[in-house]
Amino acid sequence: MTAIDPALEAQLEATIEARHASYLELLRIPSISALPQHAADCRRAAEWIVAELNRIGFEHAAVEETAGLPIVYADWLHAEGAPTILVYCHYDVQPVDPLDEWETAPFDPFIRFGRVVGRGAADDKGQISMHLRAAEAFLATRGTLPINLKFVFEGEEESSSVNIPIWLRDNRARLDCDAVIISDTGFFEGNRPAIMLGLRGLLYTQIDVTGCATDVHSGGYGGVVENPANALARIISELKDRDGVIQVPGFYDDVQALSPQERARVAAIPVHEETFLKDTGAISLQGESGYSLLERIGYRPTLDVNGIWGGFQGDGSKTIIPGQAHAKISCRLVPDQDPEALFERLKQYVLDIAPPGVQVEVRNLGSGKPTVVHADDPIAEAAARALEATFGAKPYFIRGGGSIPVAEGFDHVLGRPPLLLGFANPDDHAHAPNEFMRVGNYETGIRTICWLWDDLAEMSLNEESVA
Ligand SMILES: [Zn+2]
Repeated sequence: MTAIDPALEAQLEATIEARHASYLELLRIPSISALPQHAADCRRAAEWIVAELNRIGFEHAAVEETAGLPIVYADWLHAEGAPTILVYCHYDVQPVDPLDEWETAPFDPFIRFGRVVGRGAADDKGQISMHLRAAEAFLATRGTLPINLKFVFEGEEESSSVNIPIWLRDNRARLDCDAVIISDTGFFEGNRPAIMLGLRGLLYTQIDVTGCATDVHSGGYGGVVENPANALARIISELKDRDGVIQVPGFYDDVQALSPQERARVAAIPVHEETFLKDTGAISLQGESGYSLLERIGYRPTLDVNGIWGGFQGDGSKTIIPGQAHAKISCRLVPDQDPEALFERLKQYVLDIAPPGVQVEVRNLGSGKPTVVHADDPIAEAAARALEATFGAKPYFIRGGGSIPVAEGFDHVLGRPPLLLGFANPDDHAHAPNEFMRVGNYETGIRTICWLWDDLAEMSLNEESVA
C-alpha cells in the first residue's frame, strides 16, 4: 500500500479523537428530512456543517435556501491550474423506526468494536465527515488544497430530492467544475472497494383502459362488449416476448453495446445467484437471455408492471365486466436511451396493439435520464488508483441498477456525469436499525480522498480544461 503524504498522515493521527468526537456530534442531530417535525433539526445539521467548513478554512460556506430544506455550499478555489472537483453528499437521514430494534437510541451514537453506530453513520453523514476531515488535513498542514473543491451537501436526498435539480439549474455557472464525485454509496460484497460508474434512468407510465361507461353484468353483456381487463392483459403480454426482450419498436436503438473489455470486467466480479435468491425469496432468476446477472442489472434496460388493478377485488365473486383497468409500467433505462423519446414509442406501440372496443390512454408520470462515466475516464482511473493505494485492493467497477435524481442533474445540468465513489461497508444497515460504518472504512477512506486530491493536482480531466 502506498502511504499518503507523511505530513497529512501525522495530522490525521494526531487528530483522531477530535475527529471521532465531531463525527458523533453530527450524528446526534436528528436531521430526518421526511418528517416535518425535524425541519429545524435539518437546518441545525446544515448550520453545523457550515460552521465546520468555516473553521477549517473553506470559503463562501452558506446554508442556501430552496423551496424545501436547505443545501450547504462551500468552496476553496485557489489551486490555480489544477482541476475543480465538485463533491456531493447529503446531510439528511432516514426515519428510525422500528425503534426497539436499535442497540441504543438512533441519535445517541457510539463507537465500539470498530463500528460507528447511529442513524446516518454510513448514509451519509460519515461520508460528509470524511470529506471535511480530508480537506482539513490539507489546510491544516499545507495551508492549501492540491485541487479546487466545491462541496454541495443536500438535505432532501432521503425524501426525493425535489428541490436540488432547480437549485442546480439556478446555480449552474457557480457550480462549473471538471468532475463530480458523489460519496453516498458503498463497497462490494466482502467489503471490497468499488466504484459505481453509472446509474440507470427511469420512465414511469400509466396505461388506462376504458370500456363500458360503468361495470356491466357479465351475463347480460359478456361476449358482446370488450373487457378492459382482458384488453390490458393482452397489451401487457405483447410488451415483452418470452425471452424477456422488449417488443416496443426501436426500444434498443440507443442502448450502448457492451464492449468485450466491459464484459470481461463485469464477468470478473464475483456475484452469487444464491445471494439474490436468498435476498428476494424468488424461486429462480429470470431475465433477458444472452446477458449475465450483473449485465442485466447495470447495462440493459427493463420494462416492468409495477401495479395492476381494475374490476372486482373483494372476497367471493361478482359477475361483472369491469368498466376500466389500469397498470403502472416503468422502464429502467441505460445510456444513451432518452426517456421522452421512448415514451412516445411506447405510447404508439400500446395504441397500435390495443384491441378494438376499448379506449386506451398512456400517460408519462415522470422520467430521469441514465448517466455513466466510462472506466477509462481519467477521474475513474484516478479514483481506482487511490482506492488501491490506500485499501490495498483494486476496486470493482460496477454500474448501479437504480436511479439517483441528483446524478441526472449533475450530468444534464452541469454536463458532468458523476462518479460514485462511496466508502460505506456493504453490511452497513443503511435505512435500517443499527446503521453503522466500519471505523476502518472511515479512516482509510479519508486517506483515499487525500491520496486522490494529491493525484489529481496535475491532471487534465476533460477537453475544456485543457483548452
Ligand atoms: Zn444516501
